Amino acid sequence: MGVSILIAGAGVTGCAVARVLSRYQASVTVVDMAADLAEGASKANSGIVHAGFDAHPGTAKAEMNVLGARMYPALCAELGVPYRQAGALVLGFDEEDRKTLEGLLEQGKTNGVPGLEILEKDQVLAMEPNTNPEVVCALWAPTSGLTSPYEMTFALADHAALNGVGFAFDEEVLSVEPKAEGGFRVTTSKGERECDIFINCAGVFADKLHNGLCADKKSITARRGQYYLFDRTGTIPFNHTMFQCPTKMGKGVLVTPTVHGNLLLGPSAEDIPDGLDTSTTAEGLAFVLDKSRRTWPKAGMWGTITNFSGIRAHENGGDFVIGAVPGLKGAYEALGIESPGLSAAPAIGEKLGSQVAQEAGLEIKKEIVPPMKRPKPFHDMSNEERAEAVAKDPDYGKIVCRCEVVTEAEIREAIRRPVGARSVDAVKRRTRAGMGRCQGGFCSPRVMEILSEEMGVPMIDITKNGGGSYLLTGRIDDTLGKE
Ligand SMILES: Cc1cc2nc3c(=O)[nH]c(=O)nc-3n(C[C@H](O)[C@H](O)[C@H](O)COP(=O)(O)OP(=O)(O)OC[C@H]3O[C@@H](n4cnc5c(N)ncnc54)[C@H](O)[C@@H]3O)c2cc1C
Repeated sequence: MGVSILIAGAGVTGCAVARVLSRYQASVTVVDMAADLAEGASKANSGIVHAGFDAHPGTAKAEMNVLGARMYPALCAELGVPYRQAGALVLGFDEEDRKTLEGLLEQGKTNGVPGLEILEKDQVLAMEPNTNPEVVCALWAPTSGLTSPYEMTFALADHAALNGVGFAFDEEVLSVEPKAEGGFRVTTSKGERECDIFINCAGVFADKLHNGLCADKKSITARRGQYYLFDRTGTIPFNHTMFQCPTKMGKGVLVTPTVHGNLLLGPSAEDIPDGLDTSTTAEGLAFVLDKSRRTWPKAGMWGTITNFSGIRAHENGGDFVIGAVPGLKGAYEALGIESPGLSAAPAIGEKLGSQVAQEAGLEIKKEIVPPMKRPKPFHDMSNEERAEAVAKDPDYGKIVCRCEVVTEAEIREAIRRPVGARSVDAVKRRTRAGMGRCQGGFCSPRVMEILSEEMGVPMIDITKNGGGSYLLTGRIDDTLGKE
C-alpha cells in the first residue's frame, strides 16, 4: 500500500471518490470534522436525482448530472439504497414561464436527457389533480428520481471501508502544506498527518482549503435552504416531484414525495455568513409555505413533523470545479458541489477517483470485496418475511421505534456496520428510528441503551450527534426511594 491518500470531507462526494479509490492499491483515509458521515449538505437536501435539464450545456454540472443520474438505478440496486424513478413536472403559470420551459427542454435535449416534453394544462391536471388549476403547461421529465441522500453516503462509505478505506471523525483539516520532497503535511485539529495525495471534498469550506494551496482563489457562498417535512402516514397529494420555474438562486421551491413516502416542501435560498448555521427561521419557513401554495394551493402545516435546513456550497463561478488543483502535483478537489451534487456524486467519484488513480499510477487490486447485503427494512416486510426474520433473530420481534416500525435487530445492525452509528442521530439516519411523528420522543432512551451496550460505554457518554451533545447530564441519586 505504497501511496497514501487523504480525503477531506465525508459527504456524498468524498465517499464516492473514496469508494472508487478503494479499488486500487493505496492507503486511503477520509477525515471529517463532524462526528459522522453526511453531516453537511449530504444529509439535508431534497433527495432528488435530477434528470439533468437545469445545467447549461458544456458545464461540468451538466455533464456530471446526466452521467450520475444514469448511474443511479444500478448503483442503488447494487448498494441497497432506496431509489424510485418518480418523474418530475416543472410548472409554468404564464406565457413567460412557457418560454422558460421551452428553454429548459432544449437545454435538456442538448445535455442528453431522454423523454422530455411539454405537457398542457389538462395533461398536468390529469397526472396531478392537486396542482394549482392556474397552471398553463409543464415540462415533463420522466427520468427524474428520488433517493435517500444520507443512505447513499453511508452505503458508499461502508463499501469503501470494506475495501480498506479508513474514516476519522471529529477531525478538522486546518491547513495543507506541500512538502519539498513531494506529498503534503496536513495539520488537523488532532495533530499532524502526512499523505502523498490530498483530495479536497470539504463542501462549503472547500474554498478555504483550496485557497491555502493555490494562487488562483475560489470563493464559496453558503446558501441555506429550509424545508417542511410531513409525516409519511398521511396521504401524499403528489406522486411526482413538482418544481416551479428556476430562478437565478436555484431550482426554486418544490413539492415532492420523498423516497420513503413523506412529503417535502422547500427549499428556500438565502445567502448566509456562517456555513454551519443550519437553523430554520420563521421568515424562511413562511417563504417556503407561501411559494409551495403556488404549486399546491392547499399547502398548510397540518401533518408537519419537522423542519430542517441544508447549506449549498455555491462557488461564485457557478460551476462544479473537479480535478487537479492548478499548479500543484498530487492535490485534487471537488469544489462548489451544490445542486445537482447528489445526482452527480457517482459520476464525480468515477471521474476524480480515476484521474487520481491514473496520474498516481495506482494498480488495481486483485480482489474487490462486494458491497454488504442490506437487510430489507422490517417496515417494508410482508407478514411472512417478518415472521421469518423474527425466527432467525428474536431482536426483530422487539419494536423500538413505533412510528417508523424499526426493530432492535436493525439498530444493532446499524451500529455494527463498517462505518457504524455512534450516536442517536447516526442510528436515526441509518434506520429511521426517531424519524417519525414523535421525532424520537419515545424510542431515544432505548436507542441510547442499545448504543451503550454495543459500544461498551456508559449511557451517560452517549450523544445526540457527537461532540458535546450529551443527552444525560448525570445520575439521579440512586438511593432515592430505597429508604
Ligand atoms: C437545500 C439543498 C437542496 C439540495 N437538493 C439537491 C437535490 O435534490 N439533488 C441533488 O442532486 N443535489 C441537491 N443538493 C446538493 C447536494 O446536497 C450537494 O451537492 C452534496 O450533498 C454535496 O456533497 P459534498 O460531499 O460535496 O458536501 P457535504 O455533504 O457538505 O460534505 C462536505 C464535508 O466536508 C466536511 N468538512 C468541511 N470542511 C472540513 C475540514 N476543514 N476538515 C474536515 N472536514 C471538513 C464537512 O463536515 C462535510 O461533512 C442540495 C443541497 C442543498 C443544501
